[in-house]
Amino acid sequence: MSAATRMSLNVYTVREQWNLREAIEGCARHGVPAIAPWRDKLADIGVEEAARLIADNGLAVSSLCRGGMFPAADAAGRQAAIDDNRRALDDAAALGAACLVLVVGGLPDGSKDLPDARRQVEDGIAASLEHAREVGVPLAIEPLHPMYAADRACVNTLAQALDICDVLGDGVGVIVDVYHVWWDPELEAQIARAGERILGFHVCDWLVPTTDLLLDRGMMGDGVIDLPQIRRWVEAAGFEGYAEVEIMSAQNWWKRDPDDVVRICLERMQTVV
Ligand code: ZN
Repeated sequence: MSAATRMSLNVYTVREQWNLREAIEGCARHGVPAIAPWRDKLADIGVEEAARLIADNGLAVSSLCRGGMFPAADAAGRQAAIDDNRRALDDAAALGAACLVLVVGGLPDGSKDLPDARRQVEDGIAASLEHAREVGVPLAIEPLHPMYAADRACVNTLAQALDICDVLGDGVGVIVDVYHVWWDPELEAQIARAGERILGFHVCDWLVPTTDLLLDRGMMGDGVIDLPQIRRWVEAAGFEGYAEVEIMSAQNWWKRDPDDVVRICLERMQTVV
């Protein structure tokens, strides 16, 4: 398969332009073979309707975004997170998603105890794992860039994520998102260590300068990430899934014609990924 035909569209790449139905139909129209819905978009039309539309359009589902957010200030909060992850797993199973992406969560309100937050993450994933195995959807820990450690994810490197996988065993793996891990001096070694535990490969680019920590991701080829190198490492580790394009870009790509965005993504998949 060519690079373009291995593309999945993460719907947040066109979050402001398309609802989930439009994104599904857009993928089909442009020959993008896979999609990655987010749960807020899913909630708009419901999981049954989404599953039907995805199947009717012949798309694969590279992931469902997202579960996680495990740490909480009290036991009730932690249980609520586990319950929510259970529902997310049910939705992922209904969609036939390859995995449920976990943005694991950061510090609970008022806490400065990062090691404790990391323990809570491991406990939360452990508590969700039985259901993940029952429904046949693996949990995919996505290490996020350390700038998000406080508010989004206190698992910040592939090494940390794989240490959790080592403890918990079957049913949990990792996402390699270039935006979050491209800077890591251990990246090549940790991708090799991950092996078949790589459940997803997310692509965009790191712009210089990056003007917003969350919503200024670049189109592949517009930044400084050596995408072909990372893709080769991921493929050498045995990953054969889709490259999921996930570009959150409030000032640029979210303001463009969504059909142009998808066309450019497909081009860049062939030329720079
Ligand atoms: Zn990602």
